[in-house]
Amino acid sequence: MGKLIREDGDRGRLHIDTPLMGESLVSKELLKSTESKEYFRMHPDVNILKIGGQSIMDRGARAILPILDELIKVKDDHKLLLMTGGGTRARHVYNIGVELGMPTGVLSKLGDKVSWQNAEMLSVLLAKHGGVKIGHGDHLEQLNMYCKEGYLPITFGIPPYGFFEHPAEHGSIPPHRTDCGAFLLAENIGAKSLIYLKDETGLFEKDPKKAGDKAGEIKFYDKISVDDLIALDLDDLIIERPILHMLKNAKCLKELQIIDALNKPELIRKALEGEHVGTIIHK
Ligand code: ADP
Ligand code: MG
Repeated sequence: MGKLIREDGDRGRLHIDTPLMGESLVSKELLKSTESKEYFRMHPDVNILKIGGQSIMDRGARAILPILDELIKVKDDHKLLLMTGGGTRARHVYNIGVELGMPTGVLSKLGDKVSWQNAEMLSVLLAKHGGVKIGHGDHLEQLNMYCKEGYLPITFGIPPYGFFEHPAEHGSIPPHRTDCGAFLLAENIGAKSLIYLKDETGLFEKDPKKAGDKAGEIKFYDKISVDDLIALDLDDLIIERPILHMLKNAKCLKELQIIDALNKPELIRKALEGEHVGTIIHK
């Protein structure tokens, strides 16, 4: 804790003796000392639902409308923030950028508009039910107000890295996309839960879409710790890979769930009620 020190008694000049003064903020020992026993959670009742770009939005009305019907029903019982993925349009622009040898931060700038488009689309579709598109600025502090007043806030999932995106471990596709954005926001607002709405039951040992006739045989993980999942080092995952290390280091979020909302929109309510209906990845 900082200490206030006055020179020459009460009327003198004020100094603040802070434990971080003169520190590089790099020392591991010092950083450990900043760990809190319990972190402050701004929106502990708000659930973050990330709607897949490729897995849901790109499939059009047949996929989107049943999910929206379910969201309209559950929003009166659960506080929600919807976050949108990018999907095929983002992949197309990445593809052109990759051919041109664009670095990761440029690709990030090129792709970030697509989750915004999807947020726009959802806010139009949900407008008469209280859907309201919000940005990543001051509105995020007001989530509780929106939910209490019966609105359904929607924001884009892409985190604001742009030219500041980290270099990717493999190749050049920006590693922090909309799954990461949803994770980071859920962690930092202290959300109640984080649920990914996708088109598969959850995490398998391989992408079921690439398993052909063997799809029925591949191992399904209904619950797995993030340490075990990191150790497995699977070639492909149903969520963006940086999330694994983020969850390992998370202060508020203890788990996330991935559900098949495309084929079973009714799972949205169950997951919000704490049921285990997909894959849970936990600390
Ligand atoms: P979103 O649009 O929600 O971001 P993505 O298409 O980017 O979804 O990622 C979800 C897809 O990941 C699934 O539809 C599935 O085909 C694929 N996938 C890759 N690896 C796996 C895995 N190990 N388990 C399950 N699905 C996987
Ligand atoms: Mg994705």
